Amino acid sequence: MENRTHRIVILGAGTGGTLAANRLRRSLTPSEAMITVVDQDDRHVYQPGLLFLPFGLTHLDEIVRPRGRQLHRDIAYVQDPIDHVDMESGRVFLDSGQVLDYDVLVVATGAVLAPEETEGLTGPGWNEHAFTFYDPAGAVALSEALEWFAGGRVVVNVVELPIKCPVAPLEFCFLADWFFQQQGIRDRIDLTYVTPLDGAFTKPVASERLGGMLAERGIELVTEFNTGEVDYSGAGGRLVSYDDREVAFDLAVVIPVHNGAAYVMRSPGLGDALGFVPVDAHTLQSEASPNVFALGDAAAVPVSKAGSVTHFEGEVLVENVRRFLDDRPLDASYDGHANCFIETGFSKAMLIDFNYDVEPLPGHFPGPVGLPLLKETHLNHLGKLMFQWLYWHSLLPGRDIPGVHSAMPTAGKERRPSPEREVSAS
Ligand SMILES: Cc1cc2nc3c(=O)[nH]c(=O)nc-3n(C[C@H](O)[C@H](O)[C@H](O)COP(=O)(O)OP(=O)(O)OC[C@H]3O[C@@H](n4cnc5c(N)ncnc54)[C@H](O)[C@@H]3O)c2cc1C
Repeated sequence: MENRTHRIVILGAGTGGTLAANRLRRSLTPSEAMITVVDQDDRHVYQPGLLFLPFGLTHLDEIVRPRGRQLHRDIAYVQDPIDHVDMESGRVFLDSGQVLDYDVLVVATGAVLAPEETEGLTGPGWNEHAFTFYDPAGAVALSEALEWFAGGRVVVNVVELPIKCPVAPLEFCFLADWFFQQQGIRDRIDLTYVTPLDGAFTKPVASERLGGMLAERGIELVTEFNTGEVDYSGAGGRLVSYDDREVAFDLAVVIPVHNGAAYVMRSPGLGDALGFVPVDAHTLQSEASPNVFALGDAAAVPVSKAGSVTHFEGEVLVENVRRFLDDRPLDASYDGHANCFIETGFSKAMLIDFNYDVEPLPGHFPGPVGLPLLKETHLNHLGKLMFQWLYWHSLLPGRDIPGVHSAMPTAGKERRPSPEREVSAS
């Protein structure tokens, strides 16, 4: 490494920006690199908690913490919205007028929700009859609505892919089934899952299993439904697809369109048409500029947008920032590893583990003795709950979690004939 202090600028202090900054700080001394992290606000939300909030299983103050406090003290934190990046001059322009020069840029600004892109969705029924639990305000509004909901048609709708955590809407269905049973009103409720996919999920084995679980619970599955409009005339409203099919609702839970952060579109060459950042799927280096890397929801790679993905990408990205500064060949080892607990209600959860090439398989994780895969168990539910502690105390601070690494483990898995390589947009 050259004998000067490199300037590393990280955009976004969510899951990916925070863990990358802390890992880089552990691996580079302050004289080797000055690390600056930028975000627009001071509320770091543990987003998996948003699933539990509408059902009264957690509260906002349990899942939100100040951003700066999650960063090592030798990391500079700047709270200022990003206006744009100029890759040619290696500079980031902030809303306040401040300019940050970088030698290496890490983009970790996630995905933004764009409910206004669906005709009618944010009309008079928004947060009255249709809600999203994908942001804190929506999750709180939905929890209030569920408290009073006495019966009728409840529809959970994914408008379009990609979305963050593509299993979360299914988890919402399973928890809603549990919740209404607890309230003693399940027989007064029609529960429907409406998706643009041709099944419950993208990967064939998991899709079949999850589709079966919806059927067992009496949750109707409507597939290949591309929502074009939401119409609130009448008591509740109706979803209307581009091919003129309709699904009526009294209460809709909508996962809106996701885009990359708006500044990406204002930054010449940085993003694609949706504002996500094209990177090499194995090194996470930008296709546009060698000193730019991206991870997490902001990166355009063919794997789910998930915290686990962000974590595994972070390990490889940090190694590659080091190698880039040392002028060494990059590590191309990110294999698309993703790992998700799927909460299924009644204090049970299922675990799936997969990568770019291997779809979720039965067996155990992370080795022959471990958590059961593709099975609903209480142990997996405890794993899902415990993950929140690991998030704040291991994952964000950049510590390794024993047995959980970027390379997908195969030791505990039952082998099945490898299906055709699947490149999913989710
Ligand atoms: C309801 C729900 C449940 C989920 N459950 C799971 C789960 O069980 N398991 C799992 O693995 N994943 C889950 N996820 C997904 C996971 O939370 C995300 O994939 C992960 O947080 C992505 O991290 P990130 O750093 O890419 O983005 P984020 O953590 O969203 O961080 C992006 C940051 O960029 C900042 N930013 C954006 N634009 C600007 C700008 N112009 N200027 C300054 N700052 C900006 C934002 O303020 C934000 O802090 C869930 C998500 C949701 C919504």
